[in-house]
Amino acid sequence: MRHIAVVGSGPAGYYTAEAAQKEFGDDVRVDIFDLLPVPYGLIRTGVAPDHQSIKAVSRRYEKTALSDNVRFVGNVAVGRDVTIPELRELYDAVVLATGAPKDRDLGLPGDDLANVFGSAAFVGWYNGHPQFTTLNPDLSGRTAVVIGMGNVALDVARILAKTPHEFEGSDIVAHALEALGRSTIERIVILGRRGPHQIMMTPKELGELGELERAAPHVDARDLPAEAEDAILEPGLRKSVTLLRGFAAVPEDIRAEKPVAIEFDFFAQPLALIGADRVEAIEVERTEVVAGRARGTGETYRIPADLVVSCIGYRTTPIPDVPFDERAGRFANDEGRILPGLYCVGWARRGPSGTIGTNKPDGFSVVEKIHEDIDSAALGPPTKQGRTGFDELARARGLDVVTFRDWKKIEEAEERAAREGAPREKFVDIEAMIRARGAPALKQP
Ligand code: NAP
Repeated sequence: MRHIAVVGSGPAGYYTAEAAQKEFGDDVRVDIFDLLPVPYGLIRTGVAPDHQSIKAVSRRYEKTALSDNVRFVGNVAVGRDVTIPELRELYDAVVLATGAPKDRDLGLPGDDLANVFGSAAFVGWYNGHPQFTTLNPDLSGRTAVVIGMGNVALDVARILAKTPHEFEGSDIVAHALEALGRSTIERIVILGRRGPHQIMMTPKELGELGELERAAPHVDARDLPAEAEDAILEPGLRKSVTLLRGFAAVPEDIRAEKPVAIEFDFFAQPLALIGADRVEAIEVERTEVVAGRARGTGETYRIPADLVVSCIGYRTTPIPDVPFDERAGRFANDEGRILPGLYCVGWARRGPSGTIGTNKPDGFSVVEKIHEDIDSAALGPPTKQGRTGFDELARARGLDVVTFRDWKKIEEAEERAAREGAPREKFVDIEAMIRARGAPALKQP
């Protein structure tokens, strides 16, 4: 029997468990740890609440979770409640699937002003991540500036632009729905330091901006390169650029029928955030793209900004005793191997890129490495204690482990609390989740 600890219950974690089951059959036991009492990581707290079809992938993870050789070990902080050396002692392989939950810093003067947020915090707020429940962004201003031209920037701009009616069927949390319902923002500027040919937005997500009830995308046709130049783009990007062309072609009087403007400001690099104690404006420099890189032109201007959300990427949170690549913002690894018996997968391995599906081959690939290391005797004989050893340690430390069965009770309570038409009303603090679980289940899963 081999024992694998997977740290993190998001897509990378569950695809790894699924791959381990396929690879080792009944000869493996997998424990999936999570800091929160609820599983699914980014599916729950990252994927936009109005993208329910993407969230449905959790049903596949549930299938894995409910099999006998996989357990969910929630409400346990690896690095604090149990250390990495302890896990390595107990399990043949420890796989870090902790994602990249920290915002990359803007690193600009004024980035600590009030009402300036990173996307991890802002997305966490509207998605009910317990860490960001009290973020309380002030939406009473007129202009929001969203920095970055990736899919997260699109999510944030779209959520800011939607009417309460457009959130029907979503699982946006009550505090965010209420705050957005009172929002007075009527101008959302998406700031990109490069041009239309360098956006990271995918066509399906970009297309949604053209279908909003009270908001319309504004693209200045003068920012677009000659149409013939689109031929060199890969098909997905070409589609996105075609959408931008479509947005630019909409006559101004038609666009003006919608009271909220989502403006694309290309070739604009943020320099500083300005304000006394809360943000009032953002100073930007015009750029030109030279050999694919943004180069400042020296021309600067200010955009009034009552709210700023930077969507410029994420970093993995370091864990004590795990080598970390500071520059890349993820664990130091060689194709998923960190140290003997210690691996990483998903965003914690390769950084914050790709879709949820990208994590599937990633999970299978790390399990292949584990198999190779077992075959080469690098992991030693199968003598580890695995879950029995962990359960002893958890008892000795008084850890309040939340099991998958517990999660199902929390989930049922969330479903019962759902407003009409919504799939659930999420608990947004850990105590409420634990309360909803009731008395702890005696046995896993
Ligand atoms: P991303 O796709 O890497 O985009 C980051 C954006 O931030 C880029 O436009 C980048 O510009 C810009 N940026 C980076 N540093 C900057 C700086 N210092 N100043 C100004 N701009 C800066 O990252 P993301 O949007 O966070 O998305 C992460 C991953 O999740 C992506 O793979 C994305 O597709 C995925 N995702 C998918 C969905 C979906 O499918 N519905 C939804 C959300 C996220 P440069 O290109 O110039 O560096």
